[in-house]
Amino acid sequence: MTIDLDHERASRLGPDQRPKLELSFEFFPPKTDAMEARFWDSLNRLAPLNPRFVSVTYGAGGSTRERTLRMVRQIKSDSGVDAAAHLTCVGASRDEVDAVVRGYQVAGINRIVALRGDPPEGIGQPFQPHPDGYRNAADLVGGIRRIGDFDISVAAYPERHPQSPSWEADIDNLKRKLDAGANRAITQMFFDNRDYLRFVERARRAGITAPIVPGIQPIDNFAQISRFAQRCGARMPDWIAERFEGLENDPDTHALVASAVAAEQVLELVDEGVTELHFFTQNRSNLVLALARLLGRRPERGEGGAAS
Ligand code: FAD
Repeated sequence: MTIDLDHERASRLGPDQRPKLELSFEFFPPKTDAMEARFWDSLNRLAPLNPRFVSVTYGAGGSTRERTLRMVRQIKSDSGVDAAAHLTCVGASRDEVDAVVRGYQVAGINRIVALRGDPPEGIGQPFQPHPDGYRNAADLVGGIRRIGDFDISVAAYPERHPQSPSWEADIDNLKRKLDAGANRAITQMFFDNRDYLRFVERARRAGITAPIVPGIQPIDNFAQISRFAQRCGARMPDWIAERFEGLENDPDTHALVASAVAAEQVLELVDEGVTELHFFTQNRSNLVLALARLLGRRPERGEGGAAS
């Protein structure tokens, strides 16, 4: 075995040589006052890291339409950080979806994460478009483009979308979304970087040149995240499960293992040349703050977004 000790690792370069990273943070709209307090606390701690944008998800079937709009407006006005609103086609006509897009436009929100969404019966059930609705995400991207000059992100799946019949169909679908006018793809969570790197290679081979930003899900609660991953078709490798085994009642060790696992993942991606990362925060800031620090990112402005 030979060990290349001289190999330069991008994550270990000094501040002047390190490539500039673009970070974005995903939140979900809070349901209760207590959850809303946590949302703002986390947002105010992450905003000084100067993310490219903070995005807010759209609940199944448009159930959070008003809350998503309220949160993105308030993020933009109170923190000065650019906000992106997620939007799905589920259970709504084109006119209804277009009205939501125009509402964002009037509110000065010019970034949208455009998704098909999942049926109300749950992830994995066949998707039936609304009779007068957008049929899928590519169709939605086209609709948004007709309304205005939005920055549009779409979803990509390093392990293939669970409903995709083949790799070819999956990559073709991503290409259709980008050709319809999306600016970048953000991936579903994945825990083995090789899945992401292979996916990017497939996409490039198919002529896709747009950024494919890895979606990073820190495992702050192993039981919860592994259930969620399974529903989304993301594989939890055995070696990660083994690291968390038996820590159900040991939150301190669990938190340390979670940060080590996530650190390993993001540092390896940066060493592989990744310069854009999207974090699924679950409305929590601690782990993401620590990861940003490991990536050499320091607060650039004071709390609430004011330049410091
Ligand atoms: P699409 O790209 O439209 O396609 C999904 C599947 O349908 C693919 O398998 C594709 O092959 C197939 N397909 C699409 N069009 C065709 C066609 N014409 N012919 C044949 N097959 C086709 N969900 C929410 O409800 N709210 C959110 O806020 C949200 N945010 C997300 C953020 C990210 C970063 C990601 C990765 C996912 C998010 N999701 C969200 C989940 C997403 O809605 C689901 O994964 C959904 O099942 C697929 O959405 P999509 O936009 O990828 O769909």
